[in-house]
Amino acid sequence: MSYQTGVGQRTAVVTGAASRRGIGFATARRFAAEGWAVALLDIDEAGAKSAADELAAAHGVPVVGLGVDVTDAESVRTAAATVAASDLPPVGALANIAGVASPVPFLEVEMKEWRRVLDINLTGTFLACQAFLPAMIENGYGRIVNMSSVSAQQGGGVFSKTPYSAAKAGVLGLTRSLAREMAPHGITVNAISPGVVDTDIRAGATDAENEARLAASVPMGRQGTPEDIAALTVFLSSEDSSYITGTTQNINGGSYIA
Ligand code: NAD
Repeated sequence: MSYQTGVGQRTAVVTGAASRRGIGFATARRFAAEGWAVALLDIDEAGAKSAADELAAAHGVPVVGLGVDVTDAESVRTAAATVAASDLPPVGALANIAGVASPVPFLEVEMKEWRRVLDINLTGTFLACQAFLPAMIENGYGRIVNMSSVSAQQGGGVFSKTPYSAAKAGVLGLTRSLAREMAPHGITVNAISPGVVDTDIRAGATDAENEARLAASVPMGRQGTPEDIAALTVFLSSEDSSYITGTTQNINGGSYIA
């Protein structure tokens, strides 16, 4: 397949992309709509593959879906090797979106929960960056977007509590330090810090009344949509964003203004 635009010659890797109501899938869809080839990585292998088929059919770009556990170094490295050996164009962007919430009060947090939340939200981001960066450096183009949260900035207060805030604050530190290291390569690394977004991440632990309360607490009077976040991620992956690096992009309807 041949492409007429620069983005069509590049692949965007999106982790956490299987959940159809999630930010990752919306991001993968936006990349595909803008002509990027896309690799969808998710621990839900069947979901990643069916999502990939859906996007390929809808947008006519090459798309693969892979079962990957972002907490497992070998699994992430295998995914990077699979993408590199595939027919997809070179990787130009990585969106680290896989994540989990954790509403457990601090004194009830057990080691297992602490590790689960830190591993998926923070270590998973580290592992994916390390696995996909060498190809970006070699290809001379790279954009990394890491998913933080307003919870990291304001100390929870939305839904998740301490382990999540700590993990997402860790994502900000990782982003800033990596941005400095990668700048000489022309590779940008930025974080996105959403407020409350209407997805299934709180499924089973919230109800319609609580969701409405969360929406009402936002100055704009609504939760964010996955599409709101996807648009920003794809912009931060574009050539136009080449001088933006090490930043935290707040996207929260005015709920946290700093
Ligand atoms: P979601 O639950 O809809 O999607 C998360 C995806 O990550 C799922 O497809 C899940 O299968 C995948 N995943 C979980 N563990 C994984 C693992 N070990 N390896 C690979 N994939 C894994 O969640 P969402 O609301 O779309 O959240 C996406 C990101 O945005 C997360 O990092 C989340 O912390 C962050 N975020 C969400 C909100 C919100 O209100 N929804 C707000 C701020 C930040």
